Amino acid sequence: MAKKQFKAESKRLLELMINSIYTHKEIFLRELISNASDAMDKLYFKSMTENLGLSRANFEIFINADSENHTLTITDNGIGMTKDELESNLGVIAKSGTLQFSADNKEALSSDEDMSVIGQFGVGFYSAFMVASKVEVRSKFYGSDEAFLWASSGADGYTITACDKDSHGTEIKLYIKETAGNDAPDAPGDDENYEEFLLEYKIRSIVKKYSDYIRYPIKTESLQRKKKEDSDEFEEFKEIQTLNSMVPIWKKNKSELKDEDYNEFYKSKFHDFVDPIARIHSKTEGTATYSALIFIPKKPPYDFYTKEYEKGLQLYTSGVMIMEKCGDLLPDYFSFARGLVDSEDLSLNISREMLQHDRQLKIIAKSIERSIKNELKKMLANERDKYEEFWKEFGAQIKFGIYNTYGQAKEGLQDLLMFYSSSEEKNVTLEEYVIRMKEEQKSIYFASGESITRINSLPQVEAVKDKGYEILYLTDHVDEFCLQMLVNYNEKMFMSVQSADLDLETEDEKEEIKKKNKDNKELFEFMKDALADKVQDVRFSQKLKTLPVCVSGAGALSVEMEKVLAQMPGDKKAKADKILEINANHAICDKLQFLFDNDKEMLKTYAEILYSQAMLIEGISLENPAEFVGQVAELMTGVVV
Ligand code: ADP
Repeated sequence: MAKKQFKAESKRLLELMINSIYTHKEIFLRELISNASDAMDKLYFKSMTENLGLSRANFEIFINADSENHTLTITDNGIGMTKDELESNLGVIAKSGTLQFSADNKEALSSDEDMSVIGQFGVGFYSAFMVASKVEVRSKFYGSDEAFLWASSGADGYTITACDKDSHGTEIKLYIKETAGNDAPDAPGDDENYEEFLLEYKIRSIVKKYSDYIRYPIKTESLQRKKKEDSDEFEEFKEIQTLNSMVPIWKKNKSELKDEDYNEFYKSKFHDFVDPIARIHSKTEGTATYSALIFIPKKPPYDFYTKEYEKGLQLYTSGVMIMEKCGDLLPDYFSFARGLVDSEDLSLNISREMLQHDRQLKIIAKSIERSIKNELKKMLANERDKYEEFWKEFGAQIKFGIYNTYGQAKEGLQDLLMFYSSSEEKNVTLEEYVIRMKEEQKSIYFASGESITRINSLPQVEAVKDKGYEILYLTDHVDEFCLQMLVNYNEKMFMSVQSADLDLETEDEKEEIKKKNKDNKELFEFMKDALADKVQDVRFSQKLKTLPVCVSGAGALSVEMEKVLAQMPGDKKAKADKILEINANHAICDKLQFLFDNDKEMLKTYAEILYSQAMLIEGISLENPAEFVGQVAELMTGVVV
């Protein structure tokens, strides 16, 4: 029988699994039980929709520890797998994509954090290789009369052969590794006590810890002792016992549950290796009757920013899972939420298409959205550090939400926003900003740029700070687009310090500038022509302290937004209307006037250099840097290059 090779990526992952020094090896059992439960869900669902006449009571998972042969067997009577399914389900890991993490670096992959990457790939089944040197899977698909055996001793490949099996379902036999220190030649060089996985008490405690909520009985043969009749002696006997309580955690009362129960449930159900940052457990009655258990992860899953990522909550109706990811239950801006909804109001046979229009589902979705918002607001109010952590990971999502819905979702979301503040030097909310606003302050000031340092060095920022106003620093691409959709907050308009409309001058100063601009009309007309289509206007400004020049945006599309759009695919780029502002108090003014009177050619060059300088301050790369360097060199040396 020729051995088949695992797909390359699977093989790498498998090697990692086998060699990993991941400390929670016991989770293999949770993974196998969860697969068994899914397989039974599938058959139960099939039975309900096709009237096969099976009842929930027909299903069970059986764990058998055979210490003599050193094997642990997990049997289910679920739907089973065909030969092709054995091949495609167990021969390939990481179906969804490429492995981006470095498998070459085993050192780095030894931490829990790195292992979390593995967990998210849905490699559940492969975790068996953490504790087993060999795995045999015997499976018979429901309704088929053939059964097949998939066997593998790890990364070197697997075989699939026909085998005998009486009933449908899957039986997974693990040849448990030897414990180090044992005489066995193949004992691995770690200090895990593998033998323990064959002990009843250990199995019992692992099942209780991770799989208590599984809605099918998980049974095992237990060794019990009882007193012999008419004697003081004890006798041992075997008895089949159910290890789990089978009550779905979301059906339990909150008061019965500890943080740990929720966290373990979350991790096992949603393949995460770290605890969630928040959870919502609710039971709602009224227009819609449902229980929901929703988690906000600490970190986004590895594929969160890829097209493959599918948002959604698991959907149950009266305890039967009818959909793995019901996207309609979550708005895009909360796509990071994981969890489930169980409602009696939905019919079992409902199709995806019908579900989309289901009134009941819409009501549930609205109510879930509200509870996520409230949970986040609560976190912001009471656990600021935690919220900041959340914001770092998922804040962009919320900002996108405001932008993508054209501001329609702003009511609920605007109070969740956070931006870095120039005066507080940390993230602040819009509400906090507005409370601090000065009496005469008209707008909420913001400045955009790549980083805080960069924004700090903008001349316009200095001017606004000098007036004693707080500025919000926008460093995410989406930020300015988001604020534009908001238009205002609490009736206060947003104003970019980089906008030509920024108006900080007193009436007197305005008059003065107006006059100066008028006096220099011809000079500025000439410079504007020299810069052709680059700027809309050239004029004096009072904003600048030390620098000679800056650029500001005149239209709805700001200079920063132009920069963001320039990075998007496509040829035709929208341009911002720019105004070149010259420092009215800078020595450059006299020089410009002098050139206007004596050397118009040189004035053209000056106009170009000033424009380039303004762009550089804004962090915009020059279209022709070599030309700029040539122009400056000419000024430095007097030699035309
Ligand atoms: P995941 O469960 O995340 O999809 P696994 O590697 O654990 O990943 O399992 C791969 C697939 O193998 C499952 O999606 C399922 O189709 C199939 N499978 C695993 N265990 C069983 C089982 N006990 N019965 C039927 N199918 C199973």
